[in-house]
Amino acid sequence: MAAGQLIDGKSMAADVKRELAARIDRLDSESGIRPGLAVILVGDDPASETYVRGKIRDCRDVGIRSELVRLPENTPEEVLLRQIDRLNEDPSFHGILVQLPLPRHISAERVIHRIRPEKDVDGFHPINVGKMVIGQEAFLPCTPYGIMEMLRRTGISVAGKHAVVVGRSNIVGKPISILLQQANATVTMCHSKTKDLSAHTRRADILVVAVGKAHVIGPEHVGPNAVVIDVGINRTEEGRLTGDVDFEAVRPIASHITPVPGGVGPMTRAMLLVNTVRAAERTAGIGQG
Ligand code: NDP
Repeated sequence: MAAGQLIDGKSMAADVKRELAARIDRLDSESGIRPGLAVILVGDDPASETYVRGKIRDCRDVGIRSELVRLPENTPEEVLLRQIDRLNEDPSFHGILVQLPLPRHISAERVIHRIRPEKDVDGFHPINVGKMVIGQEAFLPCTPYGIMEMLRRTGISVAGKHAVVVGRSNIVGKPISILLQQANATVTMCHSKTKDLSAHTRRADILVVAVGKAHVIGPEHVGPNAVVIDVGINRTEEGRLTGDVDFEAVRPIASHITPVPGGVGPMTRAMLLVNTVRAAERTAGIGQG
């Protein structure tokens, strides 16, 4: 059987970044505005450090000004909230991102609520979530936004397809199910309490997996010619990254498949930049997308 076509998130993200660099130049020449992103990191979790460093590097690549606000692990919640207030008021920052997870003594909910919705480039504020659900213009959370963009750029039509989403988190599973449904897919949601998972997943034209368990999806879960989007990031005992899908075994069955690494991850990062540029364009009263 022919192998499923690879959806190369890395090269797609490079395209998105090239397009953004042009948009940033235009914004600068038309209105003298340079997009700015503030990233707040509380504590020194090594994985969060890596993510934040990547985000700052991405900003530099495309010409977004960025500032990293580092706070110690024992920072009182009130101090973090005051930092957010300061950045909310600072017109040179169009986007504010607080790296999650936060230390246990800080309420992520209160922190996310404090960011002005028009600067909430992660798309986690309930105002943005609510607008997304009712189909209004909003900042979309970066991972589901990236997945929709990957489908679009690969030329995969969603309308009328049966999409099955495995996982129902607030940052991936729930929002991607809504976006797929808004794109006129018929959507089935699966989760840890779903009985006979493969009976559902096998019927998917588009299968999105966001579970966080290595190879929870094998060939027995995938029907012929399915489009398989693997969101999961797991570390093997040897220290390699691997997805929720058994890539080697599933690829021959699928029509398209995303690799891990190099699939959804790079597009998630790219969509943060897209949201930041859009936030800046909005302040200038120009631009779409
Ligand atoms: P969560 O842990 O928040 O959610 C996992 C979901 O999977 C839950 O809804 C859970 O069900 C469901 N689940 C758990 N076990 C099973 C099972 N055996 N069968 C079916 N469903 C199951 O994870 P996230 O959504 O935050 O992340 C998922 C994965 O995606 C992680 O590996 C994460 O690292 C990765 N990720 C990758 C990103 C990227 O940029 N590539 C971005 C964000 C996340 P229940 O609700 O019943 O508990």
